[in-house]
Amino acid sequence: MDLLSSVAQTIAKGERLSDEAALALFESSDLIEIGRLADQVNRVRNGDRVFYNVNRHINPTNICALSCKFCAYSRKPGEDGAYAYSIDEMVVKAGEAVEQGATEVHMVGGLHPRWKFEHYKDMVQAVKTAYPQIHIKAFTAVELDWLARKARKTIAEVLVELQGVGLGSLPGGGAEIFHPEIRDAICDTKVSAEQWIDTHRTAHKLGMHSNCTMLYGHIEKYHHRVDHMRRLRQLQDETGGFNAFIPLSFQPFQNEMGIDRYTFGYDDLKTLAIARLYLDNFRHVKAYWVMLGQDIAQLALQFGANDLDGTVIEEKISRMAGGRAGMAMGRSYIEQIITKAKRTPVERDTLYNPVSRPDASPRSERISPNAEQSQAVLLREAMNKADCGHKLQLDELLNLAHHGSLHELGRLANQVPERQNDGGEASCMPILSLNLNNITSVAAAIDTLSTAGKACAAKYQVEPVGITIDLATPASPQASPAEHDLGLLLELVFACRHSFPALDLSLLGVKGVWRMAQNEHVTVTELLTCLKQAGLSRIDSSPHESETDLTQKEIIQLHRQMHAAGLCSTAKVELSAPMHGSGEPQWEAFLKRIMAFAEMAPVGGPLLALSIEASPGSFVTTSEYLRAVALARLAAHGIEAIIAPLARMPTLSPASGLGTALSQHPAEKIASLCLHYGASDLGAIDVEKLSPIAVIDQIRAAGLRPLVQATRELGGRQESQPFAVNPDLRHVPRLKV
Ligand code: SF4
Repeated sequence: MDLLSSVAQTIAKGERLSDEAALALFESSDLIEIGRLADQVNRVRNGDRVFYNVNRHINPTNICALSCKFCAYSRKPGEDGAYAYSIDEMVVKAGEAVEQGATEVHMVGGLHPRWKFEHYKDMVQAVKTAYPQIHIKAFTAVELDWLARKARKTIAEVLVELQGVGLGSLPGGGAEIFHPEIRDAICDTKVSAEQWIDTHRTAHKLGMHSNCTMLYGHIEKYHHRVDHMRRLRQLQDETGGFNAFIPLSFQPFQNEMGIDRYTFGYDDLKTLAIARLYLDNFRHVKAYWVMLGQDIAQLALQFGANDLDGTVIEEKISRMAGGRAGMAMGRSYIEQIITKAKRTPVERDTLYNPVSRPDASPRSERISPNAEQSQAVLLREAMNKADCGHKLQLDELLNLAHHGSLHELGRLANQVPERQNDGGEASCMPILSLNLNNITSVAAAIDTLSTAGKACAAKYQVEPVGITIDLATPASPQASPAEHDLGLLLELVFACRHSFPALDLSLLGVKGVWRMAQNEHVTVTELLTCLKQAGLSRIDSSPHESETDLTQKEIIQLHRQMHAAGLCSTAKVELSAPMHGSGEPQWEAFLKRIMAFAEMAPVGGPLLALSIEASPGSFVTTSEYLRAVALARLAAHGIEAIIAPLARMPTLSPASGLGTALSQHPAEKIASLCLHYGASDLGAIDVEKLSPIAVIDQIRAAGLRPLVQATRELGGRQESQPFAVNPDLRHVPRLKV
């Protein structure tokens, strides 16, 4: 019996997962099946409800006596950026939280060398006295140990005194990784694992609940994660006092760990899912959006997590370490992303009691049990049909879009017979890009490409495999559109083809070609024939082109003309969704466009791929995007590749304003996941904007073999070749059209 079946059987029998099984799950790359099992277990325990709370983080000080290696937050007294709030300031912040409807303040910070235990007590008392309705969740086991040592009291005495002035529960921080091999390496001056566990045991015995965390994605190995979770499971067996388990993904910046990248979304989701399966005595597994980013946190709701944490308002600790999810999320936005993951948002207090508010958004009506039953039958029929490799009709695909589980969609998408790279591979295409509007001379453009190609090879040890000439419309209407200059374009294509004979050569702009033909008073076919003769291999849809400029029929006609001229093409299909609120994407229009492309494409024909994108201005969440990728794979019979273009993937996490060190594209968190839900390609990577290594790493992180791929016409590539420029072809004759 394979691993996943045996885990499923263990769970079905109500038995506990062994450490060995948990470790094997970490080592497995079957993300869909692990996610599906975790989702099932979570649904049995929590239904489709997802909790969040309205809370505020208040970090009283970042001045800390310790120096944990992974910490970007702490400062020494007098150091640049050191701060300490007065008790009055804490009360003001708590007041702001109450005004915004918070039911909880979460207070954790550094171990201030000059603050006495009484100061901490006064802080709790002042906040509680001013706002008796608020729940104070404060002080990690590390802070409590510090306070106990300062006050020469036991942990129990400290807790009783703090409880007496208003402390409600404990957060789960400071656990990091319990195993001494790792703990000694990253935070040797912190409380030991045993002390951390003992502090929480004491709190539980005093009737206080707490959370627990695990900091992963740095130097620990999978077996350290399992060891960590085993110790938590044991304490939960003993006391039952943990509210939630919260895996914390490592934030890579401004610390001494020497790690320069975020955890992969693939690892985040697997860790959450395994936690849900292994920690059978925990009701709640939290997807802490502050560290995971909103995209992964939303997806986590389908991988066993049932809590998104809260509005947070002012988070400093992970932000200083490179956290890029922002400092706050509004209540309605949290509800929207939960609803768009097809779950029901429930506001909770700290102890997971539902909170009702007069202004709560109305819950959507449930459909009748009969309708639900017939819908389930139709869904099963569609899935059986897809399982047998049969084409699905529009109504069946729509049923899957609205009601199918993400994991089922992924599983079905991975069985489509035509799909490219079904041998455990995925591709991407490192390219050099030129914007036709910026070309002053062909010779200068060739020099620029040559320099950029060599720089890429030197920097990343990866050779670009293609050149893309972007026919983008000029930003200003006054600018002279290069689309008018067919002579220049042909000269450039000719020069590129002869200067870089081994590279793929493509144009970006299906509609640009159409406009150019109009402007130059030639037919599209004449234009395409010239481009082919000059050496062009392919034409791709441009991200700058709106899908509404031309009808679908006209676009299909353009692709046919390209193919008749001997050119390959790729097309983009956009998913639209209402810009505000939790409305469903327009699945029908999306699927119809995919099916229209599929109809025109013979298997292995010149329509190489469909690129799945979100319409500009649409609110398409990650969970919806992954669903769209899987549906595209199911609907696009005859087309080999579905591209999830990393450079243009919709993400919920803000990308900007976080400092120069944070140059990674937020989609790098989710790209690896698309490869398990029907995509086989992460698209063209402009090597001057995005690191090809980072993209190749995404593919490896998904447990797949990376292919650096050029158009099939050139034979595809599995290895890079020396980046060569033909020195005799700096000057080319002006071509006549
Ligand atoms: S992690 Fe906590 S204890 Fe360690 S240095 Fe940072 S603030 Fe201090």
